[in-house]
Amino acid sequence: MHEPLPFDESETTISTGELPSLLEVEQFLHEAYGHYRHDDDGAVADYIPALANVDPTLFGACIAGVGGNVAEVGDALRPFSIQSVSKAFVFALVCDALGHLEVLDKIGVNGTGLPFNSVMAIELNADRTMNPMVNAGAMATTSLVPGATAEDKWAFIQAGLSRFAGRDLEVDDEVYRSETQTNLRNQGIAHLLDGYGRMYFDPDAATDVYTRQCSLNVSAHDLAVMGATLADGGINPVTGERAIEAPSCKRVLAVLATAGLYERSGDWLYEIGIPGKSGVSGGIVAIAPGKGAIGVFSPKLDAAGNSVRGQRLVKNLSQRLGLNLFASAPARWTST
Ligand code: GLN
Repeated sequence: MHEPLPFDESETTISTGELPSLLEVEQFLHEAYGHYRHDDDGAVADYIPALANVDPTLFGACIAGVGGNVAEVGDALRPFSIQSVSKAFVFALVCDALGHLEVLDKIGVNGTGLPFNSVMAIELNADRTMNPMVNAGAMATTSLVPGATAEDKWAFIQAGLSRFAGRDLEVDDEVYRSETQTNLRNQGIAHLLDGYGRMYFDPDAATDVYTRQCSLNVSAHDLAVMGATLADGGINPVTGERAIEAPSCKRVLAVLATAGLYERSGDWLYEIGIPGKSGVSGGIVAIAPGKGAIGVFSPKLDAAGNSVRGQRLVKNLSQRLGLNLFASAPARWTST
């Protein structure tokens, strides 16, 4: 994250305005892809056995603009399980359905500073769930999904995430079975939360629906379109279909800025300056409000569980495309 960029940062554009032309976006995307193509740092996740078998050299990226343009490179259409990136979009659906005040009260929105599956974070904080981007808060969020049964909740999630992607997303059965057989820690977290009154549905059923949501297959292309939907006030810019209402988007993006990259969220925001969300299968979505989003897939991870090449590519593009939210040009006072 802290390596210098392969160009002079002082030359880069600022966040005010729009994405450059599609031609320029494609050029920057291909340059960044070529630059990091042979990076080999990090390690693939193996605590979910089915994830350990992935080809570590896979690398794909996509940028989707709020105008509906899409640019992609490498393995951008290669499917992988969405894992924790699902937390962003399930939270979006729940925030939209219940209202931002209710999720603030029932889940919380502060960073934990601890790993995504930390039990210590639950013990140390009176809010317990802390935020919807760590496993505790994410499973509690899933437990809040509208629906009387687990199947109703699942149908709501699958349809909702598919609206974000603009196509019907399907579960990777091998990943789902593999995680179901090994997710004792998540089951434990769900029961711990239940004991604290911070689980809002049967804890085992909620864990199962959460595991299914993490097993939905997406591509870097899908992540870019899903992110661009949040950048576009909740309307999928490719299909024109509304996924959620506009006021919910800014709440989701605020939570991503605080907690999207787990205990590295501060490093990410400092270097990249836009909200993002990562997952242990190697996906990252990064959202530039009002402009578009980057989706990237590269399975090798840093110690916190964030794709190494994914972070490097997004940092490069954030600079090149002028996405950093903290780098706007000052507006001029006019007397008329
Ligand atoms: N399904 C995974 C888990 O709950 C997701 C974790 C992640 O992507 N960080 O452990």
